[in-house]
Amino acid sequence: MAKKYVYSFGGGKADGNESMKNLLGGKGANLAEMAGHKNLRLPVPPGFTITTEVCIYYYKNRRTFPLGLKEEAAKALGKIEKLMGRNFGDAHNPLLVSVRSGARRSMPGMMETVLNVGLTEKTIPGLVKQSGGNTRFVYDAYRRLIMMYSDVVMEKAAGIEPKDEQGIRKQLEKIMSQVKKEKGCASDTDLNAEDLKLLCGTFKAKIKEVLKKDFPDDPHEQLWGGIGAVFSSWNGKRAVSYRRIENIPDEWGTAVNVQTMVFGNMGESSATGVAFTRNPGNGENKFYGEYLINAQGEDVVAGIRTPAPINAYSTSEHNKNLITLEKAMPKIYQELFDIQKRLERHYRDMQDIEFTIEKDRLFMLQCRVGKRNGPAAVRMCMEMLQERLIKKEEAVMRVTCAQLDELLHPIIDPKAELTQKPVARGLPAGPGGATGQIVFSAKDAVEWAKQGKQVILVREETNPEDVEGMRAAQAILTARGGMTSHAALVARGWGKCCIVGCAGIQVEYEKKEIHIDGKVLREGEWITLNGTKGNVYIGKFNMIDASEENKLLSEFLKLAASIKRLGVRTNADTPQDAQKARQFGAEGIGLFRTEHMFYGKGADEPLFRLRKMIISKTESERRKALDELFPYVKKDIKSTLEAMDGLPVVIRLLDPPLHEFVPRDPAKLEQLAKDLNISMEELANRAEGLHESNPMMGHRGVRLGVTYPEVSEMQMRAIFEAAAELIKEGKKPYPEIMIPVVCDVKELDDQLLLAKKVYAEALAKYNLNKIKYLFGTMIEIPRASLVAGKLATVAQFFSFGTNDMTQMGFGFSRDDIGGFLPDYIKKGILPEDPFQSIDQEGIGELIEIGIERGRKTRKDLEVGICGEHGGEPRSVEFCHRVGMDYVSCSPFRVPIATLAAAQAVLKEK
Ligand code: PEP
Ligand code: MG
Repeated sequence: MAKKYVYSFGGGKADGNESMKNLLGGKGANLAEMAGHKNLRLPVPPGFTITTEVCIYYYKNRRTFPLGLKEEAAKALGKIEKLMGRNFGDAHNPLLVSVRSGARRSMPGMMETVLNVGLTEKTIPGLVKQSGGNTRFVYDAYRRLIMMYSDVVMEKAAGIEPKDEQGIRKQLEKIMSQVKKEKGCASDTDLNAEDLKLLCGTFKAKIKEVLKKDFPDDPHEQLWGGIGAVFSSWNGKRAVSYRRIENIPDEWGTAVNVQTMVFGNMGESSATGVAFTRNPGNGENKFYGEYLINAQGEDVVAGIRTPAPINAYSTSEHNKNLITLEKAMPKIYQELFDIQKRLERHYRDMQDIEFTIEKDRLFMLQCRVGKRNGPAAVRMCMEMLQERLIKKEEAVMRVTCAQLDELLHPIIDPKAELTQKPVARGLPAGPGGATGQIVFSAKDAVEWAKQGKQVILVREETNPEDVEGMRAAQAILTARGGMTSHAALVARGWGKCCIVGCAGIQVEYEKKEIHIDGKVLREGEWITLNGTKGNVYIGKFNMIDASEENKLLSEFLKLAASIKRLGVRTNADTPQDAQKARQFGAEGIGLFRTEHMFYGKGADEPLFRLRKMIISKTESERRKALDELFPYVKKDIKSTLEAMDGLPVVIRLLDPPLHEFVPRDPAKLEQLAKDLNISMEELANRAEGLHESNPMMGHRGVRLGVTYPEVSEMQMRAIFEAAAELIKEGKKPYPEIMIPVVCDVKELDDQLLLAKKVYAEALAKYNLNKIKYLFGTMIEIPRASLVAGKLATVAQFFSFGTNDMTQMGFGFSRDDIGGFLPDYIKKGILPEDPFQSIDQEGIGELIEIGIERGRKTRKDLEVGICGEHGGEPRSVEFCHRVGMDYVSCSPFRVPIATLAAAQAVLKEK
């Protein structure tokens, strides 16, 4: 049988269904489901979908269509004509259609659409008749078709690239503005039928002049032109750049949906709107949406007119004076309300629906799983779980790691916010807080961000060409648009702080300034946004972390934790970090980097003593310095063990090359020389002696312990004595001593001997029988993985240091990769930064070898990871798959690792 390229829907029937997203695209599959599923059979305007396979064919065959497509489409068109009782191209009762894109995954506004296809000089009178003699409406529809078609089909799809502001659409818009000005009209709706009719004629003449072609007056030419243009738009600039950001493969292609036009702009009994079965901004289980009377769908999304709320719940400061749909058309509102309930029950998820009312008749145009921000995602899944709409496993799969991350993002310090008054208010389209310098174009946002600046992109409204700039900005602020405007949709998808429809600001692009609350702010000045409330402030505010008080978040994390098998620990160097991570559910510390006590606040005194130790020449000098250092190290370790009481704490012995700690500041050098009673010259000599050409591969890690056993000894003593004191205080410390940068088992033998000696001394000193501890190693040198079998004869645990493992496995300096990585990624040599996500092919194999060989020697070998990868979702999934016992990551990534670990279990099923 020949391949089927066209799938019909409508009249309570459909060829396709929801499971066919790959073939029909998300929109096509949903239209089929809505129209044809026995539980739904909704009033969907009839139409047909041309499959994504045709798109693939189109690009493989020099933009031509497969044989038989036109015949199939003609048949499908015939079905629509029958259902609607109208004929395509008919002078008396014409059928008009829309031609829209629809990829597997939604790409809002990134591809093209042509509406009102089939409207020609011949069919115009027919449409006038259908509309009850509304000539104005008909010519308005015609001028929209001309504007869209000339732009999308005759210019963009034809590959014509006009200069800025010279595109045909812009030129036509200019003509229209001119006419409006001449007629003294404030808005498009003030133009009358005659004005619009004349305008259509002027438009056509302009098109002929600029594009050297007549505007097509044949309905079939319009239809196929539209279909080809939608396929072409798959490879348009905006779509390609969106795919890069969203990781959507180029090979997927888009489907094309041809569907009966229904009109929301046939007068006061017509309307169009967008609604969500739950509030996508905060997740509340309330029907939420916006609509416009006498308008087409694009008017809602474009943010040109302020949409009205569909019900009292959707009312805001911004639209409170507008009449709700519930009040304006109560019967239709009830019908819509019932449909949205059925849709949510059917899909068991929040739906984003588009509807049109044509002369008091409701049509459902589309529905899809609604985009939501992180806080809304968590709330919805937890509430749907309570409502028994979904199961626990589904709830955990419903929140992505990126969405969870949004809940962990900063908010404006509430105390600071209390003392300030907002200078303007808009709609809260994306939650959280952000502070940044004002920029006015997407291009500047990208450039400034590249220079390391924090920017807020301020626009009248955004359009799909702005996506890269929106991405680069900390937040987005627009003067116009509603909760379903482009800016709001995109920001919500990314969980970015965003305020739209901020009527209190006036944007002057040319002067690069905004007028706000009687003040003028210029490019580069700081503003702060509260995207949760919609407040705009002047100045730079402090941001704080919002995660602590969120009860739903902790319930959600408990749910995820109950599913995961992988342990989740944290990399923490201070008791405060440890505490924070414990609140997030960390089950121990996977890496305590001892050296961090010598950096930052309060580090001066221990650092001075460490420096003395480093500069010491003789063992006795060194021992003296170590004795002075000991109490600091013990105190630091003790308070961390205490914060993690009852849970394991991996304490790593000193790792960095000593030269890193030699002071550069002359005053510090002088103080050091004085205290050691040596000359400055001698000090300089000793410091010079520590210099290494390649310190990352030099005298560091276990090598320090081998050459200066007394340094390891001091640290081990601090660990055992801190633990002994805690035991005496009735606590349950559980240190795990970790030796870094190991490449051979004999290094471990050497250090274990010291550990045993110090352990025995600590037991005797505190009169104890036992201190629970483990002795283990990092696996971060490739050789260590290969000789893991031998290492495990001594080590009771392994912790993969994938930062160094990646550095040494690739031979890429972890500090200098920025110099060439962008080119590697651009050229496709590397798919991504291997320091962020584990290179599973190479470094991953080294890890697998290490685990396998280690466990062969020691069955109960404990295996974890403490490199930065331990908090990156795909790497966590990898760690789960290769059978590690735990991952360890920075405190703020503990929730993400927990979710990724739970999702790894669920994906296995
Ligand atoms: C590692 O190498 O992965 C590691 C955790 O150690 P550091 O980053 O301190 O070298
Ligand atoms: Mg390391």
